[in-house]
Amino acid sequence: MERSTIVRVHDGLHARPATRFVNLAKGFECDIELVKADKSINAKSSVKLMLLGVKEHEEVTVRATGADAAEAIEALIGFLENPLSGASEAQTKSSKPIASTTAEKSATSSQLRGVAASEGLAMGPAFGFFPPVIDEQNLAIPPDAIPAELARLRQAFVIVQDRMSASLETTDLATSDRGIIAALKDIAGDDDLVEGAMKLVEGGMDAVSAVIGTTSRIASEFASLDDPYLNARADDMNAVGRQICLALLGQNDVNLDAIPNGSILVADDIGAWDLARAPLKNIAGIVCGRGGATSHVAIIARAHGVPAVLGLGQDVQRLKNTGIIALDGHNGEIFDDPDQEITTRFQKKIAEAAAESQALSVFKDFVPKRADGTVIEIAANIGSLEEIEAAQEAGAMGVGLFRTELLFMRHIHLPSEDFQTETYTALATAFAPYPVIVRTLDIGGDKAIAGIEFPDEDNPFLGWRGIRMCLDRPDVFKPQLRALLRAAAKGNIKVMLPMVSSVEEVFATRALIEECVSELKVEGREYAPFDLGVMIETPAAVLIAPALAREVAFFSIGTNDLTQYVMAADRLNPTVAKLNDVTHPAVMAAIEMTALAGVQAGIMVGMCGEAAGRPDLIPAFIQMGLTELSMSPASIQRAKKCVSDLSQST
Ligand code: PEP
Ligand code: MG
Repeated sequence: MERSTIVRVHDGLHARPATRFVNLAKGFECDIELVKADKSINAKSSVKLMLLGVKEHEEVTVRATGADAAEAIEALIGFLENPLSGASEAQTKSSKPIASTTAEKSATSSQLRGVAASEGLAMGPAFGFFPPVIDEQNLAIPPDAIPAELARLRQAFVIVQDRMSASLETTDLATSDRGIIAALKDIAGDDDLVEGAMKLVEGGMDAVSAVIGTTSRIASEFASLDDPYLNARADDMNAVGRQICLALLGQNDVNLDAIPNGSILVADDIGAWDLARAPLKNIAGIVCGRGGATSHVAIIARAHGVPAVLGLGQDVQRLKNTGIIALDGHNGEIFDDPDQEITTRFQKKIAEAAAESQALSVFKDFVPKRADGTVIEIAANIGSLEEIEAAQEAGAMGVGLFRTELLFMRHIHLPSEDFQTETYTALATAFAPYPVIVRTLDIGGDKAIAGIEFPDEDNPFLGWRGIRMCLDRPDVFKPQLRALLRAAAKGNIKVMLPMVSSVEEVFATRALIEECVSELKVEGREYAPFDLGVMIETPAAVLIAPALAREVAFFSIGTNDLTQYVMAADRLNPTVAKLNDVTHPAVMAAIEMTALAGVQAGIMVGMCGEAAGRPDLIPAFIQMGLTELSMSPASIQRAKKCVSDLSQST
């Protein structure tokens, strides 16, 4: 007796589903074979089953002989058609809660580690989001059908851009996610993509294959670059390509509307497009095979306060059939079906974090002061407009560091002066009357952008980065300075220079600013001067701090770089992580020397490195004379409390 079916097990009968299939088969007395094409194997052998290589969508036949053959066929076909039939929720193939049945649950929990991309702890039932892959169609289009295929492709581009425009106009899309959708829309209309795909169709390729071919070519160019931000653009390109293919095929993608409250979203990859439209309040945590700390998924997760661990690679496949996931967005740990001890630990920590954040929330609008009444500004470090809401909700007193790199990295070309003006103006408006300190482009070292060719350097962290690169490339630097002058007319903008190591760099920047001012005057554009400051990140800057202080309006100490340069310990090299310690007496002495020089010159001294948010160090920094501390939004209320405790104890 036999029956054939199409396999609906996502990704086919690989390790875990194969084991489940075999265990099910072993529960019957009869002999059972699984047949694929002309090959048949014993269905009670896991190894043979895996070697048969049964994939999703393939046709197979279950053949059984013996007393309980009918029941066996019924059960096994049922499994192949709906492998999750034991779960409680209604499930679809590609978007499903994946709570495991008791039988499937492993006795011990297993631990995985990915990239900690958004802080916080979460635990809950896994919800799998694995949309089906769209394959190239490889159809040859005859010459007389090419014009129609081109029209179809053009139409698909229009449909996707229209959908994205419509999304941008909906009121229920969080404003924090608009920038991301706008960036995707930008990609969907990019010449390289549109013309690349059109050219392939003109050569006789079908439109779906042309889109997949072009997007994967551009994506692999992004992926091959030695930079995590640009690598993340590869994911955006693939996500846009997928939307265009769906439009060509007249299909709708699966969506996350049905995700139950408290779920941990598990995906190999999730496009910003899908995530931004999902009911984020139902998502307790996110685990992804792809992505890193700077991907759009990470930015959305952080902006919404959803803990996330990304970049799990192939390990995410292990979580497809899991029930409960516990994740720690501080250190990237993930527990698959956690045991009692881990469950209790997570429950305790989650409850403590909720209680702490509840207790700290009273400090949101608090204005911390030193014992002598001087206000200590507790500001936010952000890198995109999407993070404004999180910073405001935390009670940020302005922005102490706006990293402009992401603005450049998100785009395929250098962002225009007008686009930058709009961005800086939006920022200044959002935080008025508090200041927004914009750091000029800090590219090089560990970051690169499209539109600037970087030399191969033996020591990129000691190379052409930050202000060094900008002064050599006025074509890149001047549009940014002009945009900042224009935005300063609309709000409280201050500007600081990264990686400064000599006073001449400040003079050269001032000369460029003068040039920009003259041009703007001639053009009759509105502008206003801004306070110019420097980041203190190099030992050279510390040693010439008194001279720098005479030339600038403020200092902001960048402890992340300062520590690596003082200690000669690469901040990205885990082998020397122990040396990368801001509390080392040498680094603390450098901070103190900087503060002294700034205070003596009567300029503001602030800090925007990670150390600024550390409650154990804040008292020392205040003591040294720092009056501004800028940190990730999650640390703001704790820092305000710390300053408040300090002034009460003195
Ligand atoms: C720093 O170096 O401390 C800093 C804030 O800059 P970044 O981390 O962006 O290099
Ligand atoms: Mg730095």
